[in-house]
Amino acid sequence: LDSLDGKVALVTGGSRGIGAAVALRLAEDGAHVVLTYQGGAERAEEVAAKITAMGRTGWAVRADSADPEAVRGVVEAVVERFGRLDVLVNNAGVGVLGPIGDLTLEDVDRVLEVNVRAPFLYARAASAHLTEGGRIVNLGSCIAQRVAFPGATLYGTSKAALIGLTKALARELGPRGITANLVHPGPIDTDMNPAGGPAAEGQRELTALGRFGTGAEVAAAVSYLVGEGGRYVTGAELAVDGGFAA
Ligand code: NDP
Repeated sequence: LDSLDGKVALVTGGSRGIGAAVALRLAEDGAHVVLTYQGGAERAEEVAAKITAMGRTGWAVRADSADPEAVRGVVEAVVERFGRLDVLVNNAGVGVLGPIGDLTLEDVDRVLEVNVRAPFLYARAASAHLTEGGRIVNLGSCIAQRVAFPGATLYGTSKAALIGLTKALARELGPRGITANLVHPGPIDTDMNPAGGPAAEGQRELTALGRFGTGAEVAAAVSYLVGEGGRYVTGAELAVDGGFAA
């Protein structure tokens, strides 16, 4: 049996990048996977189709993380369709960087809504359905551990908030046998942070391994945390950052 056989995972922002890699990996591990997206319907459907081709159910659902009603609706739809929810991966995020004086109120609201409020609301909704063995994994950032360059006041604020959320969830849900952990990716080659982008070389030099990581390398850590090996791991911050924060 695969470790997640018959389980149901919800991955936010699963149409591209790290979220798509996580969705595919959890399906490889045996889970049925529901993935959300905001605008990228085509790519989300492609990921869902790959999962279905693996013999699991893959289901892409449009849901803007900034919309609390959409968040509530997704969790309800998952439970209605599958009768259970075992794994929540809060991956969807936006990266708005820049000098603090250039960041608008709209920027602040958007980043906090998507990167902080949504993981909170997803965790709140999911906690009503997760049972013994349930798992929550939040996607933070190496920036929450080491702010190695300027321009990250807003993004860094949002990702550091997830440390408090994750540890508090671990305390609150631990008595029910549910774990909550935080994965901090380093520079990962995605649309958000392309390995060929203008800021790439500086980031590469800040890692110990001297290279960008892949979505699959982050997904492997998520797989560990939600699988058997992660049973006694909760409230932890796991850096998957090539040594960026070392
Ligand atoms: P991408 O920008 O490549 O992909 C973002 C994903 O999130 C897409 O699937 C996108 O969907 C979805 N998404 C964005 N906004 C919303 C929203 N409002 N509602 C629903 N879905 C949304 O990002 P990455 O894969 O690079 O990043 C994933 C996570 O990892 C983020 O939380 C990010 O902050 C974090 N991270 C990434 C790092 C990196 O170097 N790449 C480093 C550290 C942390 P759609 O296709 O519909 O737009």
